[in-house]
Amino acid sequence: TVRVRFAPSPTGHLHIGSVRTALFNFLFARRHGGKLILRIEDTDTNRNIEGAELQFLEGFRWLGVEWDEGFDVGGPHAPYRCMERLDLYRDHVTQLLAKGIAYPCFCSDEELAAEREAAEREGRVPRYSGKCYALSHEEREAKMASGESYSIRFHVPAGEELVVDDIIRGQVTFQTDDIGDFVIVKSNGIPTYNFQVVVDDAAMEITHVIRAEEHLSNTPRQLLVYHAFGFAVPKFAHLPIVLDHNRKKLSKRDPNVLPIQQYEALGYVPHAIINFLALLGWSPEGEEELFDLEALCSQFDLARVSKAGAVFDVDKLNWMANQYFKALPLETATDMVEQQLERAERRVPAATSANWLQEVVSLYQDQMACAADFLRLSEGFFTPSVSFEEEAQTILQDEAARAVVEAYLSLAREDQEWTADASRARFKQIQKDKGVKGRALFMPVRAAVTGAVHGPDLQRTIALLPREWVLDRLARALS
Ligand code: GLU
Repeated sequence: TVRVRFAPSPTGHLHIGSVRTALFNFLFARRHGGKLILRIEDTDTNRNIEGAELQFLEGFRWLGVEWDEGFDVGGPHAPYRCMERLDLYRDHVTQLLAKGIAYPCFCSDEELAAEREAAEREGRVPRYSGKCYALSHEEREAKMASGESYSIRFHVPAGEELVVDDIIRGQVTFQTDDIGDFVIVKSNGIPTYNFQVVVDDAAMEITHVIRAEEHLSNTPRQLLVYHAFGFAVPKFAHLPIVLDHNRKKLSKRDPNVLPIQQYEALGYVPHAIINFLALLGWSPEGEEELFDLEALCSQFDLARVSKAGAVFDVDKLNWMANQYFKALPLETATDMVEQQLERAERRVPAATSANWLQEVVSLYQDQMACAADFLRLSEGFFTPSVSFEEEAQTILQDEAARAVVEAYLSLAREDQEWTADASRARFKQIQKDKGVKGRALFMPVRAAVTGAVHGPDLQRTIALLPREWVLDRLARALS
Protein backbone atom coordinates (compact mmCIF):
# COMPACT_ATOMS: atom_id res chain seq x y z
CA THR A 1 0.00 0.00 0.00
CA VAL A 2 0.99 3.57 -0.67
CA ARG A 3 2.62 5.38 2.25
CA VAL A 4 3.67 8.98 1.81
CA ARG A 5 4.85 11.61 4.20
CA PHE A 6 5.01 15.33 4.67
CA ALA A 7 8.05 16.26 6.70
CA PRO A 8 8.21 19.94 7.52
CA SER A 9 10.91 21.54 9.60
CA PRO A 10 9.38 23.67 12.34
CA THR A 11 11.39 26.71 11.32
CA GLY A 12 8.72 29.23 10.40
CA HIS A 13 5.23 29.99 9.23
CA LEU A 14 3.25 27.47 7.29
CA HIS A 15 4.13 28.77 3.87
CA ILE A 16 2.02 28.23 0.80
CA GLY A 17 4.79 26.24 -0.92
CA SER A 18 4.88 23.77 1.96
CA VAL A 19 1.13 23.52 1.93
CA ARG A 20 1.28 22.59 -1.74
CA THR A 21 3.77 19.80 -0.94
CA ALA A 22 1.54 18.55 1.87
CA LEU A 23 -1.52 18.74 -0.36
CA PHE A 24 0.06 16.73 -3.19
CA ASN A 25 1.01 14.04 -0.69
CA PHE A 26 -2.50 14.09 0.74
CA LEU A 27 -4.16 13.86 -2.67
CA PHE A 28 -1.81 11.11 -3.77
CA ALA A 29 -2.53 9.09 -0.62
CA ARG A 30 -6.28 9.53 -1.08
CA ARG A 31 -6.14 8.67 -4.75
CA HIS A 32 -4.40 5.40 -3.98
CA GLY A 33 -6.11 4.52 -0.73
CA GLY A 34 -2.79 5.01 1.07
CA LYS A 35 -1.61 6.63 4.26
CA LEU A 36 -0.19 10.08 4.89
CA ILE A 37 2.34 10.55 7.67
CA LEU A 38 3.23 13.90 9.21
CA ARG A 39 6.76 13.90 10.55
CA ILE A 40 8.41 16.88 12.18
CA GLU A 41 12.02 17.25 11.06
CA ASP A 42 13.40 19.24 13.93
CA THR A 43 17.07 18.25 13.89
CA ASP A 44 18.25 21.70 12.85
CA THR A 45 17.76 22.76 16.43
CA ASN A 46 19.05 26.33 16.04
CA ARG A 47 16.39 27.11 13.48
CA ASN A 48 13.39 25.61 15.24
CA ILE A 49 10.86 28.16 16.37
CA GLU A 50 8.37 28.00 19.17
CA GLY A 51 4.79 27.50 18.07
CA ALA A 52 5.50 26.25 14.56
CA GLU A 53 3.96 22.84 15.22
CA LEU A 54 0.76 24.41 16.45
CA GLN A 55 0.63 26.58 13.34
CA PHE A 56 0.91 23.47 11.17
CA LEU A 57 -1.94 21.82 13.05
CA GLU A 58 -4.22 24.84 12.90
CA GLY A 59 -3.41 25.61 9.29
CA PHE A 60 -4.07 22.10 8.08
CA ARG A 61 -7.17 21.72 10.20
CA TRP A 62 -8.58 24.85 8.59
CA LEU A 63 -7.70 23.64 5.10
CA GLY A 64 -9.04 20.17 5.72
CA VAL A 65 -5.77 18.34 5.00
CA GLU A 66 -5.72 15.25 7.22
CA TRP A 67 -3.08 12.66 7.98
CA ASP A 68 -3.19 9.15 9.34
CA GLU A 69 -0.04 9.08 11.46
CA GLY A 70 1.87 11.95 12.97
CA PHE A 71 3.36 13.64 15.98
CA ASP A 72 -0.08 14.67 17.17
CA VAL A 73 -2.12 11.53 16.44
CA GLY A 74 0.62 8.94 16.96
CA GLY A 75 0.78 5.72 14.97
CA PRO A 76 2.69 2.46 14.60
CA HIS A 77 6.00 4.19 13.89
CA ALA A 78 5.91 6.71 16.74
CA PRO A 79 7.56 8.91 17.73
CA TYR A 80 7.11 11.23 14.73
CA ARG A 81 9.44 14.00 15.84
CA CYS A 82 13.02 13.40 14.73
CA MET A 83 14.56 14.69 17.96
CA GLU A 84 12.71 11.88 19.73
CA ARG A 85 14.26 9.31 17.39
CA LEU A 86 17.95 9.89 18.12
CA ASP A 87 18.46 6.32 19.39
CA LEU A 88 17.35 4.93 16.07
CA TYR A 89 19.81 7.10 14.17
CA ARG A 90 22.59 6.18 16.59
CA ASP A 91 22.02 2.48 15.99
CA HIS A 92 22.18 3.00 12.27
CA VAL A 93 25.34 5.08 12.42
CA THR A 94 26.96 2.37 14.48
CA GLN A 95 26.24 -0.12 11.72
CA LEU A 96 27.84 2.07 9.08
CA LEU A 97 30.88 2.74 11.26
CA ALA A 98 31.30 -0.99 11.75
CA LYS A 99 31.16 -1.57 8.00
CA GLY A 100 33.71 1.16 7.38
CA ILE A 101 31.21 3.08 5.25
CA ALA A 102 31.13 5.87 7.81
CA TYR A 103 34.08 7.32 9.67
CA PRO A 104 34.82 10.01 12.22
CA CYS A 105 36.13 13.29 10.85
CA PHE A 106 38.21 15.47 13.14
CA CYS A 107 38.71 18.38 10.74
CA SER A 108 37.98 21.73 12.32
CA ASP A 109 35.66 24.31 10.78
CA GLU A 110 38.72 26.42 9.93
CA GLU A 111 40.42 23.57 8.08
CA LEU A 112 37.26 22.84 6.14
CA ALA A 113 36.76 26.49 5.27
CA ALA A 114 40.35 26.70 4.02
CA GLU A 115 39.79 23.60 1.85
CA ARG A 116 36.67 25.15 0.39
CA GLU A 117 38.36 28.44 -0.36
CA ALA A 118 41.26 26.73 -2.06
CA ALA A 119 38.86 24.78 -4.28
CA GLU A 120 36.99 27.94 -5.19
CA ARG A 121 40.23 29.76 -6.04
CA GLU A 122 41.18 26.95 -8.38
CA GLY A 123 37.70 26.79 -9.90
CA ARG A 124 36.95 23.30 -8.59
CA VAL A 125 33.66 22.25 -7.04
CA PRO A 126 34.44 22.26 -3.34
CA ARG A 127 34.19 18.89 -1.72
CA TYR A 128 35.73 17.28 1.29
CA SER A 129 39.22 15.90 0.61
CA GLY A 130 38.59 12.68 2.50
CA LYS A 131 41.56 13.41 4.73
CA CYS A 132 40.10 11.73 7.84
CA TYR A 133 39.05 8.66 5.83
CA ALA A 134 42.77 8.02 5.41
CA LEU A 135 43.46 7.95 9.15
CA SER A 136 44.54 4.62 10.53
CA HIS A 137 42.58 2.84 13.19
CA GLU A 138 45.22 3.80 15.77
CA GLU A 139 45.16 7.46 14.77
CA ARG A 140 41.39 7.55 15.16
CA GLU A 141 41.55 5.86 18.54
CA ALA A 142 44.18 8.30 19.71
CA LYS A 143 42.22 11.35 18.64
CA MET A 144 39.05 10.03 20.24
CA ALA A 145 40.90 9.23 23.44
CA SER A 146 42.22 12.77 23.62
CA GLY A 147 38.64 14.05 23.42
CA GLU A 148 38.87 15.79 20.07
CA SER A 149 35.47 16.67 18.75
CA TYR A 150 34.38 14.96 15.56
CA SER A 151 31.57 14.60 13.12
CA ILE A 152 30.77 11.42 11.22
CA ARG A 153 31.01 11.29 7.47
CA PHE A 154 29.67 8.94 4.87
CA HIS A 155 32.34 7.62 2.54
CA VAL A 156 31.25 8.10 -1.07
CA PRO A 157 32.66 5.52 -3.50
CA ALA A 158 34.52 6.91 -6.52
CA GLY A 159 33.49 6.52 -10.13
CA GLU A 160 29.89 5.45 -9.76
CA GLU A 161 26.76 6.66 -11.41
CA LEU A 162 23.60 7.26 -9.38
CA VAL A 163 20.24 7.39 -11.10
CA VAL A 164 17.26 8.99 -9.45
CA ASP A 165 14.10 7.57 -10.95
CA ASP A 166 11.71 10.46 -10.65
CA ILE A 167 8.03 10.17 -11.55
CA ILE A 168 7.94 13.78 -12.72
CA ARG A 169 11.42 14.19 -14.16
CA GLY A 170 12.28 10.74 -15.44
CA GLN A 171 15.80 9.46 -14.84
CA VAL A 172 18.19 12.01 -13.43
CA THR A 173 21.81 10.93 -13.33
CA PHE A 174 24.47 12.01 -10.85
CA GLN A 175 28.15 11.07 -10.56
CA THR A 176 29.59 10.07 -7.20
CA ASP A 177 32.80 11.83 -8.22
CA ASP A 178 30.90 15.12 -7.82
CA ILE A 179 29.91 14.29 -4.27
CA GLY A 180 32.35 14.60 -1.39
CA ASP A 181 32.18 12.48 1.73
CA PHE A 182 29.28 14.14 3.53
CA VAL A 183 28.52 14.62 7.20
CA ILE A 184 25.80 12.34 8.53
CA VAL A 185 26.19 13.16 12.22
CA LYS A 186 27.26 16.56 13.44
CA SER A 187 29.75 17.00 16.26
CA ASN A 188 26.82 17.51 18.65
CA GLY A 189 25.64 13.97 17.92
CA ILE A 190 22.56 15.03 15.94
CA PRO A 191 22.18 13.53 12.46
CA THR A 192 21.99 15.66 9.34
CA TYR A 193 18.91 15.74 7.14
CA ASN A 194 20.34 13.52 4.38
CA PHE A 195 20.91 10.70 6.82
CA GLN A 196 17.94 11.12 9.11
CA VAL A 197 15.48 11.30 6.23
CA VAL A 198 16.56 7.94 4.82
CA VAL A 199 16.53 6.15 8.16
CA ASP A 200 13.06 7.51 8.87
CA ASP A 201 11.59 6.97 5.43
CA ALA A 202 12.81 3.37 5.51
CA ALA A 203 11.60 2.78 9.07
CA MET A 204 8.22 4.31 8.28
CA GLU A 205 7.95 2.22 5.12
CA ILE A 206 7.48 5.21 2.85
CA THR A 207 6.76 4.12 -0.71
CA HIS A 208 6.76 7.51 -2.45
CA VAL A 209 8.76 10.57 -1.55
CA ILE A 210 6.92 13.61 -2.88
CA ARG A 211 8.70 16.83 -2.05
CA ALA A 212 10.03 20.14 -3.32
CA GLU A 213 12.42 20.31 -6.25
CA GLU A 214 15.14 21.84 -4.09
CA HIS A 215 15.71 18.37 -2.63
CA LEU A 216 16.48 16.71 -5.95
CA SER A 217 20.17 17.49 -5.53
CA ASN A 218 20.11 15.83 -2.10
CA THR A 219 18.66 12.65 -3.50
CA PRO A 220 21.91 11.05 -4.76
CA ARG A 221 23.35 11.31 -1.24
CA GLN A 222 20.22 9.72 0.10
CA LEU A 223 20.46 6.94 -2.49
CA LEU A 224 23.94 6.14 -1.20
CA VAL A 225 22.53 5.79 2.29
CA TYR A 226 19.71 3.54 1.05
CA HIS A 227 22.25 1.35 -0.72
CA ALA A 228 24.55 1.23 2.29
CA PHE A 229 21.77 -0.30 4.39
CA GLY A 230 20.24 -2.34 1.60
CA PHE A 231 16.93 -0.53 2.12
CA ALA A 232 14.30 -0.61 -0.61
CA VAL A 233 14.41 2.70 -2.45
CA PRO A 234 11.07 4.54 -2.62
CA LYS A 235 9.80 6.23 -5.76
CA PHE A 236 10.61 9.92 -5.96
CA ALA A 237 8.58 12.84 -7.25
CA HIS A 238 10.17 16.27 -7.04
CA LEU A 239 7.53 18.96 -7.42
CA PRO A 240 8.21 21.96 -9.64
CA ILE A 241 9.47 25.09 -8.03
CA VAL A 242 6.92 27.84 -7.36
CA LEU A 243 7.66 31.08 -9.23
CA ASP A 244 6.44 34.64 -8.78
CA HIS A 245 5.03 36.71 -11.65
CA ASN A 246 8.58 37.61 -12.72
CA ARG A 247 9.32 33.89 -13.01
CA LYS A 248 11.75 34.10 -10.09
CA LYS A 249 11.64 31.64 -7.22
CA LEU A 250 8.72 32.73 -5.04
CA SER A 251 10.07 34.44 -1.96
CA LYS A 252 8.60 33.79 1.47
CA ARG A 253 8.36 37.54 1.77
CA ASP A 254 6.53 38.09 -1.53
CA PRO A 255 3.71 40.53 -0.70
CA ASN A 256 1.28 38.54 -2.88
CA VAL A 257 1.65 35.46 -0.73
CA LEU A 258 0.37 35.28 2.81
CA PRO A 259 1.03 32.76 5.54
CA ILE A 260 -1.90 30.33 5.62
CA GLN A 261 -3.21 31.78 8.88
CA GLN A 262 -3.70 35.09 7.11
CA TYR A 263 -6.00 33.63 4.51
CA GLU A 264 -8.06 32.23 7.33
CA ALA A 265 -8.07 35.56 9.13
CA LEU A 266 -9.23 37.39 5.99
CA GLY A 267 -12.14 35.02 5.56
CA TYR A 268 -11.19 33.05 2.47
CA VAL A 269 -13.06 29.84 1.75
CA PRO A 270 -10.43 27.22 2.66
CA HIS A 271 -11.25 24.98 -0.26
CA ALA A 272 -10.46 27.85 -2.64
CA ILE A 273 -6.86 27.74 -1.42
CA ILE A 274 -6.80 23.95 -1.81
CA ASN A 275 -8.18 24.11 -5.35
CA PHE A 276 -5.72 26.84 -6.29
CA LEU A 277 -2.73 24.99 -4.85
CA ALA A 278 -3.75 21.72 -6.48
CA LEU A 279 -3.35 23.43 -9.85
CA LEU A 280 0.05 24.84 -8.93
CA GLY A 281 2.05 22.41 -11.05
CA TRP A 282 -0.66 19.82 -11.70
CA SER A 283 -2.90 20.13 -14.74
CA PRO A 284 -5.86 17.82 -14.93
CA GLU A 285 -7.24 16.66 -18.24
CA GLY A 286 -9.73 19.05 -19.83
CA GLU A 287 -10.46 22.69 -19.26
CA GLU A 288 -12.24 22.50 -15.92
CA GLU A 289 -10.50 24.35 -13.10
CA LEU A 290 -12.94 24.06 -10.23
CA PHE A 291 -12.78 20.78 -8.35
CA ASP A 292 -14.30 19.82 -5.05
CA LEU A 293 -12.15 17.75 -2.74
CA GLU A 294 -13.60 14.48 -3.90
CA ALA A 295 -12.84 15.30 -7.53
CA LEU A 296 -9.30 16.33 -6.64
CA CYS A 297 -8.76 13.10 -4.72
CA SER A 298 -10.05 10.96 -7.54
CA GLN A 299 -8.25 12.73 -10.38
CA PHE A 300 -4.92 13.79 -8.95
CA ASP A 301 -2.10 12.23 -10.90
CA LEU A 302 1.63 12.75 -10.40
CA ALA A 303 2.19 11.88 -14.05
CA ARG A 304 0.41 15.10 -14.95
CA VAL A 305 2.59 17.28 -12.75
CA SER A 306 4.91 19.42 -14.84
CA LYS A 307 8.67 19.74 -14.51
CA ALA A 308 8.57 23.42 -15.33
CA GLY A 309 8.18 25.98 -12.57
CA ALA A 310 4.61 26.81 -11.57
CA VAL A 311 3.75 30.50 -11.47
CA PHE A 312 1.90 31.74 -8.40
CA ASP A 313 -0.70 33.96 -10.02
CA VAL A 314 -2.40 36.06 -7.38
CA ASP A 315 -5.12 37.17 -9.81
CA LYS A 316 -6.00 33.57 -10.42
CA LEU A 317 -6.06 32.92 -6.68
CA ASN A 318 -8.51 35.76 -6.20
CA TRP A 319 -10.57 34.69 -9.18
CA MET A 320 -10.85 31.23 -7.72
CA ALA A 321 -11.52 32.54 -4.23
CA ASN A 322 -14.34 34.64 -5.70
CA GLN A 323 -15.85 31.59 -7.40
CA TYR A 324 -16.10 29.88 -4.03
CA PHE A 325 -17.07 32.92 -2.00
CA LYS A 326 -19.97 33.87 -4.19
CA ALA A 327 -21.28 30.30 -4.08
CA LEU A 328 -21.60 30.38 -0.28
CA PRO A 329 -25.08 30.44 1.24
CA LEU A 330 -25.84 34.05 2.12
CA GLU A 331 -26.08 33.18 5.84
CA THR A 332 -22.57 31.72 5.82
CA ALA A 333 -21.11 34.68 3.94
CA THR A 334 -22.82 37.01 6.40
CA ASP A 335 -21.41 35.15 9.39
CA MET A 336 -17.95 35.44 7.92
CA VAL A 337 -18.47 39.14 7.24
CA GLU A 338 -19.64 39.67 10.81
CA GLN A 339 -16.31 38.40 12.08
CA GLN A 340 -14.53 40.90 9.86
CA LEU A 341 -16.72 43.73 11.14
CA GLU A 342 -15.90 42.77 14.69
CA ARG A 343 -12.18 42.69 14.02
CA ALA A 344 -12.38 46.07 12.33
CA GLU A 345 -14.65 47.37 15.10
CA ARG A 346 -17.15 48.50 12.54
CA ARG A 347 -20.69 48.71 13.83
CA VAL A 348 -23.95 48.21 12.00
CA PRO A 349 -25.70 51.61 11.82
CA ALA A 350 -28.54 52.16 14.28
CA ALA A 351 -32.17 51.96 13.13
CA THR A 352 -31.57 49.36 10.46
CA SER A 353 -33.64 46.22 10.17
CA ALA A 354 -32.75 42.84 11.60
CA ASN A 355 -31.48 41.32 8.38
CA TRP A 356 -29.86 44.51 7.19
CA LEU A 357 -26.35 43.12 7.18
CA GLN A 358 -27.40 40.09 5.19
CA GLU A 359 -28.97 42.34 2.58
CA VAL A 360 -25.91 44.53 2.30
CA VAL A 361 -23.73 41.41 2.00
CA SER A 362 -25.99 40.21 -0.81
CA LEU A 363 -25.19 43.41 -2.71
CA TYR A 364 -21.47 42.61 -2.71
CA GLN A 365 -21.08 38.87 -2.34
CA ASP A 366 -20.60 38.35 -6.08
CA GLN A 367 -17.56 40.60 -6.09
CA MET A 368 -15.84 39.24 -3.01
CA ALA A 369 -12.81 36.96 -2.94
CA CYS A 370 -12.90 36.85 0.84
CA ALA A 371 -15.00 38.21 3.67
CA ALA A 372 -12.54 41.03 4.35
CA ASP A 373 -13.26 42.45 0.89
CA PHE A 374 -16.59 43.55 2.31
CA LEU A 375 -14.89 46.16 4.49
CA ARG A 376 -13.51 47.98 1.48
CA LEU A 377 -16.57 47.58 -0.74
CA SER A 378 -19.23 48.54 1.78
CA GLU A 379 -17.60 51.52 3.49
CA GLY A 380 -20.43 53.87 2.50
CA PHE A 381 -22.90 51.80 4.49
CA PHE A 382 -21.08 52.40 7.74
CA THR A 383 -20.46 56.15 7.75
CA PRO A 384 -22.99 58.95 7.34
CA SER A 385 -21.05 60.76 4.64
CA VAL A 386 -18.94 59.64 1.73
CA SER A 387 -16.12 61.27 -0.17
CA PHE A 388 -16.62 61.83 -3.87
CA GLU A 389 -14.53 60.17 -6.52
CA GLU A 390 -13.29 62.47 -9.25
CA GLU A 391 -15.70 61.04 -11.82
CA ALA A 392 -18.59 61.57 -9.44
CA GLN A 393 -17.54 65.16 -8.85
CA THR A 394 -17.44 65.83 -12.57
CA ILE A 395 -20.92 64.46 -13.03
CA LEU A 396 -22.25 66.58 -10.19
CA GLN A 397 -20.98 69.80 -11.79
CA ASP A 398 -23.39 69.42 -14.66
CA GLU A 399 -26.53 71.58 -14.45
CA ALA A 400 -28.96 68.94 -15.69
CA ALA A 401 -27.47 66.41 -13.32
CA ARG A 402 -27.86 68.75 -10.37
CA ALA A 403 -31.48 69.31 -11.34
CA VAL A 404 -32.09 65.55 -11.17
CA VAL A 405 -30.44 65.32 -7.75
CA GLU A 406 -32.51 68.23 -6.54
CA ALA A 407 -35.72 66.67 -7.79
CA TYR A 408 -34.85 63.35 -6.18
CA LEU A 409 -34.03 65.07 -2.90
CA SER A 410 -37.33 66.87 -2.70
CA LEU A 411 -39.31 63.72 -3.52
CA ALA A 412 -37.32 61.73 -0.98
CA ARG A 413 -37.88 64.35 1.73
CA GLU A 414 -41.63 63.97 1.41
CA ASP A 415 -41.61 60.22 1.08
CA GLN A 416 -42.03 58.29 4.33
CA GLU A 417 -41.77 54.93 2.63
CA TRP A 418 -38.12 53.89 2.50
CA THR A 419 -37.95 50.93 0.16
CA ALA A 420 -36.42 50.06 -3.19
CA ASP A 421 -39.85 50.26 -4.79
CA ALA A 422 -40.43 53.73 -3.39
CA SER A 423 -37.09 54.85 -4.78
CA ARG A 424 -37.92 53.38 -8.16
CA ALA A 425 -41.19 55.33 -8.12
CA ARG A 426 -39.29 58.58 -7.45
CA PHE A 427 -37.15 58.01 -10.51
CA LYS A 428 -40.27 57.29 -12.59
CA GLN A 429 -41.73 60.55 -11.45
CA ILE A 430 -38.59 62.49 -12.39
CA GLN A 431 -38.48 60.78 -15.75
CA LYS A 432 -42.03 61.88 -16.39
CA ASP A 433 -41.50 65.44 -15.15
CA LYS A 434 -38.19 66.13 -16.88
CA GLY A 435 -38.04 63.70 -19.75
CA VAL A 436 -34.62 62.34 -18.68
CA LYS A 437 -33.91 58.64 -18.60
CA GLY A 438 -31.20 56.00 -18.40
CA ARG A 439 -27.76 57.10 -17.35
CA ALA A 440 -28.71 60.79 -17.19
CA LEU A 441 -31.42 59.90 -14.71
CA PHE A 442 -29.65 57.46 -12.42
CA MET A 443 -26.01 58.45 -12.51
CA PRO A 444 -26.33 61.85 -10.79
CA VAL A 445 -28.16 60.28 -7.85
CA ARG A 446 -25.73 57.38 -7.66
CA ALA A 447 -22.81 59.83 -7.66
CA ALA A 448 -24.42 61.94 -4.95
CA VAL A 449 -25.45 59.06 -2.69
CA THR A 450 -22.42 56.79 -3.03
CA GLY A 451 -19.67 59.17 -4.17
CA ALA A 452 -18.90 56.70 -6.94
CA VAL A 453 -20.07 55.92 -10.45
CA HIS A 454 -20.03 52.14 -10.11
CA GLY A 455 -21.72 50.02 -7.52
CA PRO A 456 -24.46 47.53 -6.83
CA ASP A 457 -28.15 47.99 -7.54
CA LEU A 458 -28.99 51.64 -6.84
CA GLN A 459 -32.56 51.22 -5.57
CA ARG A 460 -31.58 48.59 -3.06
CA THR A 461 -28.53 50.60 -2.05
CA ILE A 462 -30.68 53.63 -1.30
CA ALA A 463 -33.27 51.59 0.55
CA LEU A 464 -30.60 49.96 2.74
CA LEU A 465 -28.97 53.25 3.67
CA PRO A 466 -30.49 55.15 6.60
CA ARG A 467 -32.88 57.77 5.24
CA GLU A 468 -31.13 60.67 7.01
CA TRP A 469 -27.80 59.73 5.47
CA VAL A 470 -29.23 59.72 1.96
CA LEU A 471 -30.93 63.09 2.44
CA ASP A 472 -27.69 64.57 3.83
CA ARG A 473 -25.58 63.21 1.02
CA LEU A 474 -27.93 64.53 -1.65
CA ALA A 475 -27.97 67.94 -0.02
CA ARG A 476 -24.19 67.97 0.32
CA ALA A 477 -23.74 67.09 -3.33
CA LEU A 478 -25.72 70.20 -4.22
CA SER A 479 -23.95 72.57 -1.85
N1 GLU B 1 12.40 18.77 6.32
C1 GLU B 1 12.56 18.89 4.89
C2 GLU B 1 12.01 20.23 4.46
O1 GLU B 1 11.24 20.83 5.19
C3 GLU B 1 11.79 17.77 4.22
C4 GLU B 1 12.40 17.33 2.94
C5 GLU B 1 11.83 16.01 2.48
O2 GLU B 1 10.61 15.94 2.29
O3 GLU B 1 12.61 15.08 2.33
O4 GLU B 1 12.36 20.73 3.42
